[in-house]
Amino acid sequence: MARHRAKGPLVDVITRVDLDRKKAVAAVVAAGALAGAGFAQAMTTVSPVDRIVPIAATKNLAAAMTAQPQEPQTIHSLDTSAETRKLLQAEQIQAQFHVREALRSAEGAYAKRQEAEQARVAAEQARIAAERARIAAEEEAKRPQCVRPAEGSFTSGFGARWGTSHNGVDIANAIGTPIVAVMDGTVVEAGPASGFGLWVRVQHADGTITVYGHMNTIDVPQGAAVKAGQQIATIGNRGQSTGPHLHFEVWADGGQKVNPVGWLAARGVTL
Ligand SMILES: [Zn+2]
Repeated sequence: MARHRAKGPLVDVITRVDLDRKKAVAAVVAAGALAGAGFAQAMTTVSPVDRIVPIAATKNLAAAMTAQPQEPQTIHSLDTSAETRKLLQAEQIQAQFHVREALRSAEGAYAKRQEAEQARVAAEQARIAAERARIAAEEEAKRPQCVRPAEGSFTSGFGARWGTSHNGVDIANAIGTPIVAVMDGTVVEAGPASGFGLWVRVQHADGTITVYGHMNTIDVPQGAAVKAGQQIATIGNRGQSTGPHLHFEVWADGGQKVNPVGWLAARGVTL
């Protein structure tokens, strides 16, 4: 850097800041003001040797104002950096775009996999439901339509007995032996009955009513829907009974009492 030898304190100040334009201008303004306001006084109070010379009149000021940096400028390399920066920025933008695209694509693939998995699970659940329905239908088809009302000894048949009419059949067994509904139906009555002690009457789809008497316990409420083979009571000795047994009657639709032996036989059941 060019170094101007000092010709006065003010000039020296200016030469020291000759590369800093802003400082230089500020200094010039300040010096100008000083020169304008106090030059005349300075001319009379300061010895000629130390007389301040107005800054604007010096070559040093012009030199300060026009001073150029001594080092070679690096415009070319600076431009290269700028271009590189632009290129890098462009590359970054491109890379970000690709990353976003890849993420979008991955999200799309994930969503599709989720949808496929949900569809697979739904299909599997439907398959299981269909299989359960098939098994239930199979079991329903295998389920007997008609069964014996109780296990035990056939002790008395339908018809005339002891000078009166026996309207059912008797099956003897121990107190507490299960009594079951012979077919699907609805419990139309369950409770005390004259001569029977307790009875249960079950009405079936064709209107037939089966009657169960003398039981020890009743295990279904009136109004209940029952399946063939479902326990409804237990064998007892209540009412007009000579020992623990089930008295079983079949009332045809209309009330006529029919022989249970033939009625059960017609449905594949022997006593
Ligand atoms: Zn009887």
